[in-house]
Formats: sequence, C-alpha cells, structure tokens
Amino acid sequence: MKMWNQFPREELSALRAELAKEYEALCAKGLKLDMSRGKPGPEQLDLSTALLTDWPGDDPRGWITENGTDARNYGVLDGIAEAKRLMAELLDTTPDHVIVGGQASLGLMYDVLIRAMLFGILGSTPWYRLPEVKFLCPVPGYDRHFRITEALGIEMIHIPMDENGPDMDLVEGLVRDEAVKGIWCVPRFSNPGGIVYSDETVRRFAALKPAAKDFRILWDNAYCVHDLYPDAPRILNILEECEKAGNPDLVYEFASTSKITLPGAGISVFASSPANVAEYRKRLGVQAISYDKLNMLRHVRFLRDKANIRAHMEKHAALMRPKFELVLDTLDRELGSLNIGSWTRPLGGYFISFSALPGCAKSIVEHCKQAGITLTDAGAAFPYGRDPEDSNIRLAPTYPSLDELRQAADGFALCVKLVSAEKLLSL
Ligand code: PLP
Repeated sequence: MKMWNQFPREELSALRAELAKEYEALCAKGLKLDMSRGKPGPEQLDLSTALLTDWPGDDPRGWITENGTDARNYGVLDGIAEAKRLMAELLDTTPDHVIVGGQASLGLMYDVLIRAMLFGILGSTPWYRLPEVKFLCPVPGYDRHFRITEALGIEMIHIPMDENGPDMDLVEGLVRDEAVKGIWCVPRFSNPGGIVYSDETVRRFAALKPAAKDFRILWDNAYCVHDLYPDAPRILNILEECEKAGNPDLVYEFASTSKITLPGAGISVFASSPANVAEYRKRLGVQAISYDKLNMLRHVRFLRDKANIRAHMEKHAALMRPKFELVLDTLDRELGSLNIGSWTRPLGGYFISFSALPGCAKSIVEHCKQAGITLTDAGAAFPYGRDPEDSNIRLAPTYPSLDELRQAADGFALCVKLVSAEKLLSL
C-alpha cells in the first residue's frame, strides 16, 4: 500500500470524500463508548470479589491483626505489621522502609508535595518561601501528576523520553539548578508510553547530584506487577541503587493495589529511606490517627504474598491481553502502512500511546467525541494540558468490553484517517 504523503492530491481528495461519508455513517450510529481512563474492566474487578464477600468470613482471627490489635479501632499510624511486610515485599524492600497508607497512592503523592511546600524536607526551607520551584516532567506522562504540581504553582519542565526512559543528560544538567526540586517518574510501563526504564537509567537516577538537597525523585511504581506478558522486563530496585550510590534519601517510591484489587478502595505504600520514612511518620501523626486497618487486613489475607499477587495479576493479564491486541491489530490493519501515525506496543501497564501527524491530535479526539467515542483529552499527557506538537493521544483499552472496543478502535482509526487526509490536503 502507498503511504499517504506520496498520494497525488486528487487521489487524496477523493479518499477524503469517501472517509467523510464513512464518518457520517459512524456518527449516525449513536455510539456511546469510553476509551478515556485506565480503569479495569468489570470482569477484572470480579477477580477481587472475595475481598467483599468472604471477609472476615469464618476466619477465627476475625478482625484481629497478628500483633493482637483490633483492626476495627483507632491506632497503628503507619500500617499494621502484616501489611507493611506485604507492601515491602511488593517493592522488594523491608518493612522499616515503608508506610502503608490509605485507599490509593495519588493522595500520598499529593501529601508529600503539600508537606514539602509547607514544611520543607528534612529541615530545608519550605518551598512556599522560595522565589521559584521547578519540577521535571518526563513527557508524555501521567496527567494527574502534572495536575498536582500545577495546582501547587510549581513550574514544570518537559523532559523527552525514549525507549530507555527520560533523557538523562538533560536531567543531570537541569538538577544543577537549585530551584529544581524533583521529578515525576513512572519507571515501569510509563503512563502512557509503556516505557520501562533501563538499568542504566535507574542507576543514573540513583547517582544524581542535585544542587537542591531537598530534591526528590517521585518514583511512582504504579505498574510494578502489571505485566501483560510473561517476559515483560523488570526494573532495578531504586531504593537499593540509591543506597549503593550514597544517596539513600533521594527517592520517594509509591505504589498501590488499585489495579491489583479495587481501584480507589485498596491500600497504598510509601517507600523510602529510614530518614524520609521517619519524617513522613512525624507529619502523618499530626494529620491522622491511622489509615484504614480493616482494609489492610483484608488485603493481606486476600493477597497473602508477592507470589500470590503475581498469580492474581496473571488473571488480570489474561483478561487485558485480548483487549490490547484487538486495538493493536486494528491500528496495524487500518493504519499500518499509511505513515499517518505510530503507536506503542506495551508489554504491561494500562495504555497505548498514539502519535498522530503533528497538529492532528485535538481534531482526532474531537471527531471521536462527535461520533460518541470518548478519549482522554488531547494534550492531557503534557504539563498544563499542552502538547507542543498536538500529536499524542492516550488509548485506554481495558474498560470497554471486547465488542465495544472493536467499534471504538475502528471508529478511532477512521477519525485518524479522515483528520490526517484533511491535514495532508491543507499542507
Ligand atoms: N500512578 C499512575 C502512573 C497511574 O497511571 C495511576 C492510575 O491510572 C495512578 C498512579 C493512580 O493510582 P492510585 O489509584 O493508587 O491513586
């Protein structure tokens, strides 16, 4: 098949007319499909129904933790022992490095930044007192990360990514500026690019020498066990690498069971050096009496250990793989040889990242919307919602059923073709 940019104008123009008719027919179908957010499908949620129905069941331990605490009552600020053990194991660390938090991890990330703003970090000047505070933002990235730094008035600097992770030459250069206080990272199956940081990238992060002593890497390991395929790559342990590099306090790591059990109704974890953990505990002690220990206890009894979590995640993968493959097959079939877009082939995580011809993403998303197919807003994966190329679109295949997804992927491919034909004709 010929690439579209090699088409004679008249041919492309005829094609556009045909595509416009197809698009009209698509709009007439009155679809109502949603590929916007990385939410597990209902059948994935069913994998964790036992959390709701079998708890505490006829377990003779009832609501009592292994240390004899009644989980129904106040107390135990930083997580019950068995939950700390489980979440430490999840992140390949030890319980003294973790605090087990509430129902999801985004709140923990928000908290550490609010506290840095108000109180500083390990004795540093509170950030609100500084003339400027900047954060490095690998792009495309997770929109909700950028919304937190934007809401706090922190200036965000784009860091391009390649298949090994963020551009480390750039990162190493920029951290020489004392106003640069941190970086957002999703090191495994980044949202939305699906990138897994290489060993060299992780080691370079651990060895960073920022001018700001209160610079922190926010290592959001949201997809630490979210493999779609058995041979999906692993990453180095950042906490260990930071210790080895003599930088134990450099990183705050986060994760949660949101996409293991029930999103927003799971347990979360903050993992870091003993000094950072102690500071976290001190600030938390003012903020709360304890997180939800009942939820911790039922999660521990349900998930048990990392081997069992991996087995549970294989069941998720079995449900998710056909959805990812359906979207990828559609893109290959409909757009594969046209040279009007490229896309990632993630081995885990929740997203496919699509790169349209520059200047087309907003219009594609709008065309999809008019046809009843909701996608994440174009630009959402960039700070301030502004993609300088207007090219990136995040596809989230997990929530719709296979049948809905088939229609959504076909509709998306049609919108890409129509908008790209218009773009090429306008050049
Ligand atoms: N971090 C990343 C990279 C995500 O993609 C998501 C959800 O999509 C979250 C965090 C949300 O995690 P939680 O539910 O633990 O707040």
